[in-house]
Amino acid sequence: MTIWNLGSINADMIYDVPHLPAPGETLAANRLDRFLGGKGANMSVAAARAGARVAHIGAVGPDGRWALERLTEYGVDTRYIAGVQEPTGHAIIAVDTKGENNIILFPGSNHAISRDQLGQALSSASQGDLLVMQNETNLQVEAARMGHELGLTVCYAAAPFQADAVEAVLPYLDFLILNEIEAEQLQQASGQSVTDLEIEHVIVTLGSKGARYYHRGAPSDFPALKVEAVDTTGAGDTFTGYVLAGMDRGMPMAQAISQANRAAALMVTRHGTADVIPDLKEVHEAQF
Ligand code: ATP
Repeated sequence: MTIWNLGSINADMIYDVPHLPAPGETLAANRLDRFLGGKGANMSVAAARAGARVAHIGAVGPDGRWALERLTEYGVDTRYIAGVQEPTGHAIIAVDTKGENNIILFPGSNHAISRDQLGQALSSASQGDLLVMQNETNLQVEAARMGHELGLTVCYAAAPFQADAVEAVLPYLDFLILNEIEAEQLQQASGQSVTDLEIEHVIVTLGSKGARYYHRGAPSDFPALKVEAVDTTGAGDTFTGYVLAGMDRGMPMAQAISQANRAAALMVTRHGTADVIPDLKEVHEAQF
């Protein structure tokens, strides 16, 4: 089976600065690192590292060749990623000596995916394949509808949270994943709690407390592993990628979630995003 991921691809530009810049201030950075990021790319890499076949549907600008090369190196099929004129999506992240940050996010190419491109990609999908989306690209609703009509298992990671975006895709979903705050935001916006949703699989991730899985509204808990967390960036995306890879392989959900908990726990012990997502061997061998 294949996991189709309509997802963002970002360059995370991380500038180490002595302090966060004040309005009007010009500040020299001490260091610049460029990492592959974006929730979409992170999930694709996580699912590929978990052993799944992953085809990423997205777009990069003229400055995005390196991102394609890196995704390919990490085992992701990049044939369905378009080259567009808009600059590649990026995040400009200033981090001060205390670890505080501020972030400017520019969606760029992530909002320039075309209907033709999406249709062409999904015409190669087979019934039973998984399709996943997050809220960092255009065409989410179209993709969810098409995926549903094609008999794909349609999955949505409701982040960054936007009530109207989630509500628009809900009717097509087989699997919804969101964190505790997003679940609360959904309840406030729509009046629906996660147990009210008519979606077969719902997972609420709970950070250091683990995750709660609802199968047709019936909950079960999966406590997190105890680790020394140094950087939680990308933990949710790693978790989701591993759950999807497990589902794709036909694993029982409980087993897929337990494996995802291990992968995400290992991820929070590392600095960085897509580039440091653990592979299956590391996840199996990790001593917690
Ligand atoms: P992010 O946006 O930081 O990627 P998120 O808010 O989407 O994360 P979380 O609920 O914070 O998602 O975490 C996702 C998963 O990562 C959790 O379900 C858990 O498995 C793992 N995790 C997160 N924080 C910790 C921690 N401190 N210790 C162990 N596991 C953790």
